Amino acid sequence: MLNIIMYHYVRNNEDYFYDTFSRRKDEFEAQIDFFRRSSEIVDPADMEKIKYYLNNHNEEAYLLTFDDGYKDHFYCAKYLFDRNIRAFFFPPISSLNGEILDINSIHMIIGVRGLKIKKILKVISEICLSSNFLLTLNKQKVDINTYLENFKIVDNYDDRNTLMIKRILQKDIIGDDNRKFIIDILIKKFIGEKSSKISSELYLNIDDLQKMKNMGMLFGSHGKTHRWLTNLNYFEQKEEIEKSLKTLKELQLIGSDEPMSMCYPFGAYDSNTIKLMGDLKIDLGFTTDIGASMATNKKEFIFKLPRWDTNHFWDNKWRRPCVFVK
Ligand SMILES: [Zn+2]
Repeated sequence: MLNIIMYHYVRNNEDYFYDTFSRRKDEFEAQIDFFRRSSEIVDPADMEKIKYYLNNHNEEAYLLTFDDGYKDHFYCAKYLFDRNIRAFFFPPISSLNGEILDINSIHMIIGVRGLKIKKILKVISEICLSSNFLLTLNKQKVDINTYLENFKIVDNYDDRNTLMIKRILQKDIIGDDNRKFIIDILIKKFIGEKSSKISSELYLNIDDLQKMKNMGMLFGSHGKTHRWLTNLNYFEQKEEIEKSLKTLKELQLIGSDEPMSMCYPFGAYDSNTIKLMGDLKIDLGFTTDIGASMATNKKEFIFKLPRWDTNHFWDNKWRRPCVFVK
């Protein structure tokens, strides 16, 4: 089986003005060294070996993936390169254009030190009321008060208020422009920096990516604009995936002999997505479902590969890398 590990931020929070759920740099290094000692870290270009481990119940190995194209990943690539290890990186194309992905605006707003979650919700609520913005909840159009009263989704990561803010700002406000309007106000009010400056500090630029390519790193699609694919129809999804791969190829970040891979933004995919994987001749599809990856008797398993989060292999109590206890 293959333990595919997913990284997002790899940084020391004290170096930034906002907090993120991140792997600290020394933790990252300890974890990589642990993986190397306990098994093999598979070369992402080696499809034969990837398939070998996916079909082997007795032996396990690791495969490393990095989502969202953060500047943090340049340091990671360098660390891996020095140890002759390669990994998959998934930068969304819009992060290369000086835009801030909504997901990162949301992380920053939630992470500003000393800012209470309730205060953010209050501001969102006021804007929705004064601008008459509606939201989607359980497939119905509702106003913000109804939304806040009836929101019942739970997940393993966030408390209710934090999860509500994320869902409201990621997708539940009706109308993309309305959603962006609110995010912009929150960024100005609570962060107060220009988005171009934030973006250039947060994301890898093309020069960084090409240097990483020269270190032997592999790249795959994380969409053009990092949207929930499940909110899009077949043709809109095709545009997101096909265009992003085209751009990565034009930048010579995907070589003709390398596997074509797709990492679904927010881990979201549906039957259209899976059909597209075949139609676009993509080799591997990465989800955010949690677990070890194993071949099944369904051919499409290769487009639904689960991953572990880096936290699943980190013992927070004793602050050391560990094997996930199954
Ligand atoms: Zn992402």
